[in-house]
Amino acid sequence: MTEETNIYKIEDVLHDGIGYVELIDAMGSDLDIVNAAKVSYNKEATTFGPAEEKLLWYLWFHKHTSPFEQVELKWRIKAPAVVWWQFVRHRMAEYNATSGRYTPYKDEYYTPPTWRGQDKHNKQASSDVIIQLSPELEAQIEELMLQSEQVYQDSMKEGVSRELARLNRLAWRDYHTFIVKMNAHAFMNFLTKRDHKDAQWEIQQYAKAMKNSVLTIIPATLTCFDTYRKEAVKFEEQLNLIYKERFKDVGKSSS
Ligand SMILES: Cc1cc2nc3c(=O)[nH]c(=O)nc-3n(C[C@H](O)[C@H](O)[C@H](O)COP(=O)(O)OP(=O)(O)OC[C@H]3O[C@@H](n4cnc5c(N)ncnc54)[C@H](O)[C@@H]3O)c2cc1C
Repeated sequence: MTEETNIYKIEDVLHDGIGYVELIDAMGSDLDIVNAAKVSYNKEATTFGPAEEKLLWYLWFHKHTSPFEQVELKWRIKAPAVVWWQFVRHRMAEYNATSGRYTPYKDEYYTPPTWRGQDKHNKQASSDVIIQLSPELEAQIEELMLQSEQVYQDSMKEGVSRELARLNRLAWRDYHTFIVKMNAHAFMNFLTKRDHKDAQWEIQQYAKAMKNSVLTIIPATLTCFDTYRKEAVKFEEQLNLIYKERFKDVGKSSS
């Protein structure tokens, strides 16, 4: 199957032939979310129709979020360290990862499709400007990657343990494989933050792939979430204007 047909494994997330997102398990559905709410008045629906969809939207729009925690979604993911590091900031999730202490790293380094320039306004972000690296810098980077692999291998050949030999690698470029489980509430919080223009491009690609992988599991929930987000973004823009106006005369922190 392909990405267009709502597949369960999305290959090549970052266009370098290495990373992937694979939905390996899922428990629950839109109907389970609604029934979790309906248990309050000891009722249960057997099919998901317009009345159930209405209740689901009501729950999300009014922040009755616990029923969304009845759906569990589990993925196996291969992603570069920069993405893995951003993942684990999401505490409402369960993780297990391949250990570089057991398993030697493969000669697989993430190389971005383009070298994005530094954003002029957002200190954390990159811009749309693509930097054409000089041949000298390109050669330096190539050399660094070869050296990294060589020194890692040589360290282990000389008897250094795997847990220490890995200190000699270009660690941010290493790929990590992990299993992550989130409930639908935590997942929508993840999407809010990581399928967002302010998030690093790399993790945005993973967030989009994860969302694509569950489109058929919780379709009504995701439609509701998308509708809510579209309006919430407008609201956040208004809040940002209020923030800017309130602090327009306040200079930068001296620290
Ligand atoms: C664009 C961007 C830039 C970022 N930059 C930085 C950075 O520079 N430095 C940095 O350290 N992090 C940074 N982060 C990480 C960010 O601060 C969050 O840690 C991360 O996005 C996880 O979000 P979360 O806490 O909502 O998710 P989760 O940890 O999954 O938590 C989900 C929700 O549970 C609740 N919750 C969880 N734990 C607690 C708690 N201890 N107390 C109360 N409520 C809790 C909160 O409502 C939270 O939203 C950045 C994130 C983004 C998206």
